[in-house]
Amino acid sequence: MFAVTVIPGTPDSLRLVDDFPEPPPREGPVLVEALSVGVCATDREIIDGGFGEAPEGSDTLVLGHESLGRVIEDPTGQLRPGELVAGIVRHPDPVPCANCAAREWDMCRNGRYTEHGIKALHGFARERWRTQPEFAVPLAPGLAGVGVLLEPASVVAKGWEHIDRIGARAVWRPRRALVTGAGPIGLLAALLAQQRGLEVHVLDRAERGHKPALVDGLGATYHAGTVMDLDFEPDVVLECTGAPTVVIDVMDKVGRNGIVCLTGVSSGGRTIEIDAGALNRSLVLENNVVFGSVNANRRHWLQAADALARADVGWLGRLITRREDVAHYAEAYEGQPDDIKVVLNFPAATG
Ligand SMILES: [Zn+2]
Repeated sequence: MFAVTVIPGTPDSLRLVDDFPEPPPREGPVLVEALSVGVCATDREIIDGGFGEAPEGSDTLVLGHESLGRVIEDPTGQLRPGELVAGIVRHPDPVPCANCAAREWDMCRNGRYTEHGIKALHGFARERWRTQPEFAVPLAPGLAGVGVLLEPASVVAKGWEHIDRIGARAVWRPRRALVTGAGPIGLLAALLAQQRGLEVHVLDRAERGHKPALVDGLGATYHAGTVMDLDFEPDVVLECTGAPTVVIDVMDKVGRNGIVCLTGVSSGGRTIEIDAGALNRSLVLENNVVFGSVNANRRHWLQAADALARADVGWLGRLITRREDVAHYAEAYEGQPDDIKVVLNFPAATG
């Protein structure tokens, strides 16, 4: 069967192979036919050789951690043939640590977790894959065209859940949310903010194109400028750029008792000058919280599935700005300036 593979650590080793073995039963009883996989920056880092780990005993890693597929069979009876599912990316570590033992693998303490398409587990960019029922998340039939957005939505759902938990330290009635970065994560963060009834502001560098239109389509306010130019103090910020200046500026800009959730992974190596004393002073005197958030556990995946089911499918569809058939896999992994989310389609998606 077709699979998109890389040799982790070897740049330009991206290949489409047509004789990849069928998924072995030890990968789980649920057999799934792939419809599509989403492409993100992590895939590009793996392709560039800077990231990724092949499963034990293999030189190659099948790419793909943002999945959508259709159940072929589940002998356990928990999923029905034909049902739409996405595969949960992270699996608990073998020890397991206290968090993994409690199924909170997104908070793994020892770093020995595994991840489909990233770390020691083959990904979902293959015609068929297997998993355990607990790691397959059902999606409403109406989400056939957009369900591949579930993985990025799960990351955002976790961020919002943790914001709520932190907010619960005192009376928490946020009114205004700021999202920095209008990529897929930022736009999905804005969607969840809007679903919570917040006044939503999204800031990005782009002055025209898909991004302002999508923010407008959500009934939110778009800002193309700097954080410090904003004429309001947000109660909550979801930082989705990882750009050092933006990260520091939102910590300064957030209002009293404000919460900043950092989701952008910076590349590092760039130094900017900050007044650490003044920043500390403002965080302390305003009871501000700044926290990082990555990955998601099953609870967050279910929250994300609920959020997608309540969203306008037309709007979600506009987040996917390019779809490539698997034969054009190389183009899918090459970024273009207007891309928001690029999706690789498998034959079952079109045939
Ligand atoms: Zn763990």
